[in-house]
Amino acid sequence: MTYDPNNIFARILRGEIPCKKVMENDHVLAFHDINPGAPVHVLVIPKGAYVSMADFSAKASVAEQAALMKAIGDVARQMGVSDSGYRVISNAGEDGNQEVPHLHFHVVGGRKLGRMLPRAD
Ligand code: AMP
Repeated sequence: MTYDPNNIFARILRGEIPCKKVMENDHVLAFHDINPGAPVHVLVIPKGAYVSMADFSAKASVAEQAALMKAIGDVARQMGVSDSGYRVISNAGEDGNQEVPHLHFHVVGGRKLGRMLPRAD
C-alpha cells in the first residue's frame, strides 16, 4: 500500500476536514472515530506521512516513535479506560483490512470487547 497524500487523515491534518480532537502535540493527533465501534473509539495518528507500522518503524525518527507510543497510553488514560480495559488496534494493508492509508491506532473500550479474533475452533 502506498501513501496517498489526499487520504482523509492527511486532509484532517491539513485542516481541510474537521475532527473531534482528543489531544495533539508536535508529532501526534488523536480524534474520535466518526463511526465508533465502542463507547470509546479514538484514532491516534502520527503527523508524518506513514502508511503503516512497518513503514513508520523503518522511517520515523525516535522522537516520532516515542511520541506516538506515549500518546496511545495518554489517550487511554484521558478517555477513562485505563483501569477498566481497552484494546489498541492498527490495521495494515489488504490482509489487515486497512481502509485509510495513513498509519493509525484505534483505541477502543468502554464495554467488554470479546475475543480479539474469531477462531475456527
Ligand atoms: P481502518 O479500517 O483501520 O483503516 O480504519 C479507518 C477508520 O477511520 C474507520 O474506523 C473509520 O470509521 C474512520 N474514519 C474514516 N473517516 C473518518 C473521519 N473523517 N473522521 C474520523 N474517523 C474517520
